[in-house]
Amino acid sequence: MSQTPNVDVAIIGGGPAGIALALTICLYSKLTVAVIEQTAYDNLRTGEHVSASLLPLLDYLQVKQPFLADNHTPVYNVAALWGHSELHSRPSIINQMGEGYLLDRTEFDAMLAEQLVRKGGQLYLETKCAEGEQLEGGGWRLFLKDNSGEYSQLETRYLVDATGRQARISKRLGAKSLACDTLVGISALLDFESDRSNTEEVLIESIPEGWWYSAWLPNGTLIVVLMTDIDIMRQGKLHKDKQWVELLSQATHTKQRVRGGQLVYPLAVKPSHSHVLDRAVGEDWMAIGDAAIAFDPLSSMGVGHAITCGCDAAVALVEYLINNEDRMLKQYQERLKLNFDNYLSIRHRYYALEQRWSDLPFWKRRTQSAPIPLTAE
Ligand SMILES: Cc1cc2nc3c(=O)[nH]c(=O)nc-3n(C[C@H](O)[C@H](O)[C@H](O)COP(=O)(O)OP(=O)(O)OC[C@H]3O[C@@H](n4cnc5c(N)ncnc54)[C@H](O)[C@@H]3O)c2cc1C
Repeated sequence: MSQTPNVDVAIIGGGPAGIALALTICLYSKLTVAVIEQTAYDNLRTGEHVSASLLPLLDYLQVKQPFLADNHTPVYNVAALWGHSELHSRPSIINQMGEGYLLDRTEFDAMLAEQLVRKGGQLYLETKCAEGEQLEGGGWRLFLKDNSGEYSQLETRYLVDATGRQARISKRLGAKSLACDTLVGISALLDFESDRSNTEEVLIESIPEGWWYSAWLPNGTLIVVLMTDIDIMRQGKLHKDKQWVELLSQATHTKQRVRGGQLVYPLAVKPSHSHVLDRAVGEDWMAIGDAAIAFDPLSSMGVGHAITCGCDAAVALVEYLINNEDRMLKQYQERLKLNFDNYLSIRHRYYALEQRWSDLPFWKRRTQSAPIPLTAE
């Protein structure tokens, strides 16, 4: 009779957080890992502007050389219209560490996954975790389903939710997402026939309904994202091409960048709310990256934090699985809450710099002086 394969740690979600955790375990312990990823890294991935603080993290994960060999663009110039109508160039909106990179996110995530396999980690592509049951005496039996509809099983001592902002696994296990806004990003990709002119790589422009983000990607396309709240989007039908383009035509500087561009990717709506889980560690499971805590894209902190979080969680997990000591897991959980509180005050400060529309819903919600209510999803 064939035996069910088993690993020490199974991670659902092969984004930066999940792969960082898996790589850390492979590199710095003898524990075994498997990552279950629903795609084949062939989809459009958003979240490309990262600060220079990414490099030491990639060094720790021993992937800095392959990263530098890939096609990512250094960012020397981030410009913002925020709080006034003049264009101001800044090294970054929040991060003070100097110029960063514009990633080809699909290539970046795929590179991390490839390095994991080289370091001995298992990777299930185009596979989802359909069900899981907790085993008597600890651990899990997972029922996996791949894209062709084939089922397989995997046993694991510990389960990690790295599914991103939706926190699919943690919510199934009873955790609640405490969200402080309903921000969404409505994005499009634009292609240009002629070479782009020399211009800021990243531009942020505030508007009454929220703000525009646009950036030149390493492949020469321009990503343009409208960030607004979901009710404002629905009310103005801003997820429809016509209304989105109409609003764009009122954005003084962003509209100039898109001139001559052809839409190559239909509008996509991505949840972008800030949230923290009420509980990111449970019995033989934990959440990491955006699943555990997610920030406003304005901060450009998401990818760096996801990797840091994956590395930190791995260290706590190794101590738990080898020494049966959960002290670091508890500290991990407490740190998430502290990080979120700190983040909220920074977020408040940055949104308060924009006072021109302080009586309009998008800005009022973010700049009111009373503490922001966290609502469970
Ligand atoms: C519009 C927008 C703009 C952003 N801009 C920036 C930016 O400029 N800079 C920045 O640093 N961050 C940005 N972010 C945030 C950044 O994208 C995230 O913080 C980062 O990707 C989090 O990494 P993660 O690994 O936690 O989650 P993700 O990157 O979301 O990865 C989750 C992975 O899990 C997989 N998955 C999900 N469900 C399942 C399942 N059931 N089974 C198997 N696999 C599953 C997904 O396919 C994916 O590979 C932005 C986010 C948005 C929405």
